[in-house]
Amino acid sequence: MTKRIEIVEVGPRDGLQNEPEIISTENKIALIERAIALGVRRIEVASFVNPKRVPQMADAEGVVAGVAPRAGLTRIGLVLNQRGAERAIATGVEELGAVAVATDTFSIRNQGQSSDESVGVAAEIVAMAKSAGRSGQVTISAAFGCPFEGEVDPARVVAMAARLAEARPREIALADTIGCGVPAQVTDLVRRVRAVIGDIPLRAHFHNTRNTGLANAWAAVEAGVVTLDSSLGGLGGCPFAPKATGNIPTEDLVYLLARSGVETGLDLGGAIDAGQWLTGLMGRQLPAMLSRAGPFPAPVAARA
Ligand code: MG
Repeated sequence: MTKRIEIVEVGPRDGLQNEPEIISTENKIALIERAIALGVRRIEVASFVNPKRVPQMADAEGVVAGVAPRAGLTRIGLVLNQRGAERAIATGVEELGAVAVATDTFSIRNQGQSSDESVGVAAEIVAMAKSAGRSGQVTISAAFGCPFEGEVDPARVVAMAARLAEARPREIALADTIGCGVPAQVTDLVRRVRAVIGDIPLRAHFHNTRNTGLANAWAAVEAGVVTLDSSLGGLGGCPFAPKATGNIPTEDLVYLLARSGVETGLDLGGAIDAGQWLTGLMGRQLPAMLSRAGPFPAPVAARA
């Protein structure tokens, strides 16, 4: 089993996109810099989507401009169509993240494309990224269930992954966009998808809507996923997925993995500090537990 898992911090994009109050560009940049300081090397910095639909992401270009490129750092811009890909490429982002959706209803609501169309567009985005000298990856959204259509046939997700693999993205991700999946489902779907994508690495994206997020993350690690998405504080939601709540919290995930002997390269104390800073910024308690409970064992100075 892998003893190292890469964490992609998605707080600045998936975490913030659903927040009704606009966070300043300066604070978004500060969040990104805190994530980098604690060891994050891949980070979703923004999405290049219609600002009328997702006002929180209207300053995507400004955010990217405020985060200097540096060796070993991959700044990811999420894009849903060719227009978004052109905008992202015009900035300095090193990677474009495309989204293919497993069901028609969610796909049309999220990005105005049928599910099949979303696969084609995602493949085209990967090609655009590559010809611009960037990397491109694809997330299969609603892979474990759909807020509108209910159960998603795993065979549908596998067929999408096989088609996407032909575009040779740097990785394919399975996303439980609404947080309905359970570990047995993760184990099964990861196994089936791995069988059709050859050597393309697999990433997973979980939400904790039904409190199964961290269990799913662990099941994914055991099944051979090499990269996990998470957000500091457990911030998150999706504007087009009713009742979707936070991503799995970065600090809680780092704790779980570190205590299980899996390296992430992220500093747990730094993640807790960043989560607490974000709690202050948002002005409310965030879902992450480590910022409340603290690490175990407690640092010596903190023991009573
Ligand atoms: Mg998400």
